Amino acid sequence: MRTKLIFGNWKMNKTIAEAKAFATEAVAFDKFAKEHGVDIGVAPTFMSLAAVKEIAPELTVAAQNCHFADHGAFTGEVAIPMLKEVGIDWCIIGHSERRTYNGETNETCNKKIHALIDNDMTVIYCCGETLEQFEKGLTKEVINTQIREGLAGCCKCCLKHVVVAYEPIWSIGTGKNASTEIAEDICSYIRSIIKDMAGEEASENIRILYGGSVKPENIRAYLGQPDVDGALVGGASLKVESFKQLIENIL
Ligand code: PEP
Repeated sequence: MRTKLIFGNWKMNKTIAEAKAFATEAVAFDKFAKEHGVDIGVAPTFMSLAAVKEIAPELTVAAQNCHFADHGAFTGEVAIPMLKEVGIDWCIIGHSERRTYNGETNETCNKKIHALIDNDMTVIYCCGETLEQFEKGLTKEVINTQIREGLAGCCKCCLKHVVVAYEPIWSIGTGKNASTEIAEDICSYIRSIIKDMAGEEASENIRILYGGSVKPENIRAYLGQPDVDGALVGGASLKVESFKQLIENIL
């Protein structure tokens, strides 16, 4: 039985003060979610990670990226031991915005994923196709490559530390949702690739999220699909009220 997971990706939003205000309220609704068998988490900017974790120590808090090296001459980067020092044990890897604007590739994602797993961290690995690839019917080809290359070398034990998020790029922040049929089709396809790579147990246990314009009004339909174990949410995770509604609407 896979526990449902709702994760907020704050992207480059919220000052430290705003993040602290959210975290203060999150203590109660994190408890409420857990009591109802739902896991939740948020991914603030690097600036706010320590503050959010300090205010809400039980809340799952993820970085939005990391470097694969422990230290070194990598200006502007943040290393995994630095995240761990402030109590962060989750990290998003391969978000399409990082692939598009920061040159993230399946290979760099793979290095980061292995470094995170070696450090007992949990990874949310994002994959998803562009609108052009979707329209050309290339979605499964793209996803297959992203999953096999990004998760190369991950055994079934490693995959216990991995959550996959399927996020069609054309639906992120656009209000243009993938249908629940598409979400289920691709999430179940991802599960079948994991089965091929690491066996049935790994594929049955891994959590696969859908992301792309998920809102309180549509989250229930996505999470009603057998292979959709949760949601990675951008815009609708920013306001406390809307985040709470995401949880309430799936109970
Ligand atoms: C995201 O950034 O991962 C995302 C899914 O954004 P939104 O919910 O705003 O489409």
